Amino acid sequence: MNKKSSVLLHICCGICSIGSIQNLQEEGFDVYGFYFNPNIYPKEEYLKRLEVLKKLKSIFKINLIEQGYNYEEWKNFCTSSVDYEKEYEGGKRCMLCYGFRLKKTYFKMQELNLSFFTTTLTISPYKDSKKIFEIGKKIGGERFLDIDFKKRNGFKKSVDISKKYNFYRQNYCGCEFSMIRK
Ligand code: SF4
Repeated sequence: MNKKSSVLLHICCGICSIGSIQNLQEEGFDVYGFYFNPNIYPKEEYLKRLEVLKKLKSIFKINLIEQGYNYEEWKNFCTSSVDYEKEYEGGKRCMLCYGFRLKKTYFKMQELNLSFFTTTLTISPYKDSKKIFEIGKKIGGERFLDIDFKKRNGFKKSVDISKKYNFYRQNYCGCEFSMIRK
């Protein structure tokens, strides 16, 4: 791995970013955070997660880009079939959701002239990293870094640091259909 490369890290929330940023910085990457999550419902929740990330920006000294919020656009895309609203977490709706966010991250990486892109989504114990890798590679080929941030205790590190700073931690993935886990 090129130790001096830049990477655009798609960040799903502040908490998940902790272990992921640490991992990438330990590998020598220059990390740019990309908060693009129009899937999060309601908007107040989107802003709460962003607030945590802004605090982490100064702790980890990363660049941070926020792309903006359009839940209706996301919903139209990811629930193009009504059945997708009933899908369990990790099902077809989620595959579209991963692709929606990773495609935007890929284009942003190109726009910023960065070397690679990847996502914090793999740190979640609820998400299948292999499926995320398949989608990322299909979009960006070798420019997508297939790093499983769950490894090396990534999720535990995130939780430990968020407890230390008393950060807000959500208890559902993001969209209105995942709130059932609350
Ligand atoms: S459960 Fe999470 S990954 Fe799946 S569609 Fe909803 S926000 Fe996206």
